[in-house]
Amino acid sequence: MRFGIDLGGTKIEILALDGSRERLRRRVATPRGGYDETIRAMRDLVLGAEQQLGCRGTVGVAIPGTISTLTGNVKNANSTNLIGHPLDKDLGSALDRGVRTANDANCFTLSEASDGAAASDDIVFGVIVGTGCGGGIAVGRRVLGGAHGIAGEWGHNPLPAPRPREIETAPRCYCGRIGCIESWISGTGLAADFRRRAGRDLPPNGIAAAAAGGDALAGAVMEDFYDRFARALASIVNVLDPDTIVIGGGLSNIDAIYSELPARVMQYAFTPETPSRIVRNLHGDSSGVRGAAWLWSEAEAAALK
Ligand SMILES: [Zn+2]
Repeated sequence: MRFGIDLGGTKIEILALDGSRERLRRRVATPRGGYDETIRAMRDLVLGAEQQLGCRGTVGVAIPGTISTLTGNVKNANSTNLIGHPLDKDLGSALDRGVRTANDANCFTLSEASDGAAASDDIVFGVIVGTGCGGGIAVGRRVLGGAHGIAGEWGHNPLPAPRPREIETAPRCYCGRIGCIESWISGTGLAADFRRRAGRDLPPNGIAAAAAGGDALAGAVMEDFYDRFARALASIVNVLDPDTIVIGGGLSNIDAIYSELPARVMQYAFTPETPSRIVRNLHGDSSGVRGAAWLWSEAEAAALK
């Protein structure tokens, strides 16, 4: 059995995978008390699931951040009570076994590369375009974490080949830099671009719907969005040359992404051939728990008695 845990700011979810088959799924509210309570809540979820299923399992956790290879502690987390703690070691001690962790975008990518929209592919780039813009890389169904745990974090690269208006209006990102890809390729960035040009607010999916309905200004904003998205992906294609790019997050529901992006990426990438498939995710919001479970192989789970 393989257990995946998705540790979120408001909820902790556990999933039990037997092969690719879901055997159990459970959610609890994330404790408000702090780090120690969060570890206990995850331990109790695993022990409760094992009692119900009558077996032991491997444990992987999707965390909002990364374990630093330098310190062994959580960094880059938006859930601040995790920062500075060796979460994998502490949960491992509580459960008396090894625990693996990966960030949300890496779990998303691993899930889609394992038994999702890119299940037959060797090299997969996963993109989560929601409030922000994350990315992850899977090669041969394994997460490529990187020497410092930041592989795939393309959202904080600068937008490639910026146009004059993009330079003039480039917003400052929370990371401190100006003109990050995430400032444009995200729900927040899309809505901000529309607000700047229309002088009114629409949610990201509303802008896409207005464009599809013939609204000229919304159409122009979406055209620029696709063009920026394509420039940003072309730089990934030139470095990684993935078989497939899988899109997740709230903006993955915009149907036109899948028809608009391929030709545009081809225009910017260094290849005369169609470079990479660009597809919608299969597992949606379940990618965190599923990818966390896939951090261990079936053979490793079978060896755990
Ligand atoms: Zn940034």
